[in-house]
Amino acid sequence: MSRGKKTVERVTQLMNKPENIRNIGIVAHIDHGKTTMSDNLLAGAGIISEDLAGKACWMDSDEEEQARGITIDASNVSMVHEYEGKEYLINMIDTPGHVDFGGDVTRAMRAVDGAVVLVDAVEGTMPQTETVLRQALKERVKPVLFINKVDRLINELQVDEMEMQIRLGKVIDKVNKLIKGMNEEMYNNGWKLDAAQGTVAFGSALYNWAISVPYMKKSGISFKNVYDHCKAGEMKELAKKSPLCDVILDMVVTFLPNPLEAQKRRVGVIWHGDINSPEGKGMYNCDPNAPSCMMVTDISFDPHAGEVATGRLFGGKLKRGDEVYVMQSAKKVNRLQQVGIFMGPTRVEVPELFAGNIAAVTGLKDAVVGSTVSSLMDMTPFESLEHYSEPVVTVA
Ligand code: GDP
Repeated sequence: MSRGKKTVERVTQLMNKPENIRNIGIVAHIDHGKTTMSDNLLAGAGIISEDLAGKACWMDSDEEEQARGITIDASNVSMVHEYEGKEYLINMIDTPGHVDFGGDVTRAMRAVDGAVVLVDAVEGTMPQTETVLRQALKERVKPVLFINKVDRLINELQVDEMEMQIRLGKVIDKVNKLIKGMNEEMYNNGWKLDAAQGTVAFGSALYNWAISVPYMKKSGISFKNVYDHCKAGEMKELAKKSPLCDVILDMVVTFLPNPLEAQKRRVGVIWHGDINSPEGKGMYNCDPNAPSCMMVTDISFDPHAGEVATGRLFGGKLKRGDEVYVMQSAKKVNRLQQVGIFMGPTRVEVPELFAGNIAAVTGLKDAVVGSTVSSLMDMTPFESLEHYSEPVVTVA
């Protein structure tokens, strides 16, 4: 079986098991290494060629799929990760790293439940780190931390092992201070980052290795081993012993919430309708048998299929031919033409899609970014995305 077909099979099996789904985004200040890390995660999951990873260049994993005209979409990808004998579907939504990115990060944060906050070990937290973290917390998106470019600390700044630990500790403290200042309640309720617990990993996206305390325990690699390998320039060996992909995705699967857990926390914040209504209960419980409720977070153009609306399905299910309504529009019926999800960097049609997934649908002629789509003719729309954009307030 080709790798592409195998991915399709595994993804379709997992998309109906919300407890095995993680919808995540990677957020970072520009140049801290988000592109390098995303590419290496995909290469690790066998989705893009390892040669192209780190060059911000995507490649379809299966030429057959390309020949069938399935679109490659670099902004949404799905990966399957195995952890302790179970498979997980990881839907990763891209968040742009530019200065004028605020709105796009907000959109992405609406679609996901967890974020990997990436910080450059040498530069530390920067203004955009703060902004993206703020956007995440406002949407009740749970953070974990990856401290990147640790190779530079060792090889360029020539810090010793002790100094390296102190510097990494300082970055963690700063991010924790930001989280506490932004949302003390969540901070006190388990969102404080803690390297010993495993919500922090560090490494080098460029050289494709990472490490965390749980992974050290699992693999027997010590902090000293990491330091020594890096100092000796044995990056390839380190990448084999402690691959970026495994360390990061283990952290994602263990510490970032699945949609069942996340929606209970998020629905009251992003939607102000009656929580006891059928749609309210449906979203709270991530129930596939409730009225369908989707928030559109992106619209793109596909030369084969036309406009594709991507968004988070919070309640109910979607299938081809379903009649749905777009709130705050003329409320004429929109008929779904294709219902798809992302598999690797490609979009493929599925027979039916359940709550908790990121949906990519065609046929929503009245939808714009931010639209609420439902099988109900009338429902309270989701809180608008603009609502969450605000000037950066510096936390001392
Ligand atoms: P983005 O703007 O956050 O997407 O950052 P990029 O992934 O484009 O990386 C910015 C620069 O940092 C590039 O030149 C990368 O090669 C480099 N870079 C990324 N990760 C690492 C790392 O772990 N170590 C080192 N030394 N350089 C890195």
